[in-house]
Amino acid sequence: MSNRAEPNAAPALATCPVSKTNSRKINRRTLEHLLKPDAINKMQNVQYYYCDELSCDVVYFSGQALPYFTKDDLTVKVFHKDNGDDVNVCYCFDWTRGRIKEQIRSTGQSTASQEIAQLVKDQKCICDITNPKGRCSLGDVNRVIKEVKQQLKL
Ligand SMILES: [Zn+2]
Repeated sequence: MSNRAEPNAAPALATCPVSKTNSRKINRRTLEHLLKPDAINKMQNVQYYYCDELSCDVVYFSGQALPYFTKDDLTVKVFHKDNGDDVNVCYCFDWTRGRIKEQIRSTGQSTASQEIAQLVKDQKCICDITNPKGRCSLGDVNRVIKEVKQQLKL
């Protein structure tokens, strides 16, 4: 998808005002899709960034001295900031940590990454607006599968 509508002058990375985490740019449409209406109303015409630090409540911030958006401002739980089983890893096809764990517990394997890869291939993936990080979840899904297998000693 094109980034033409995004401000181009902003630096590729910015530092989170709270955790100081180096953070990547995020498209406006991701915020517009995931923020609660009150938060959307507070959006400014600036480049926003996504903080992926687990311990940090900030999800989106701008490089400017403007209000940032925290976990409570989003309509979904953020994978990188919440270790719960009810949290989505893949937001397009509803793979939560719990669903992946359950599948591995009962079958010893997870089909999540193959299924997601196929759906991405079929262009049914809309991670750029459903996933708070604005990108495909496949890397996170593979990491979770690996972690669960390690926990279960598979
Ligand atoms: Zn942060």
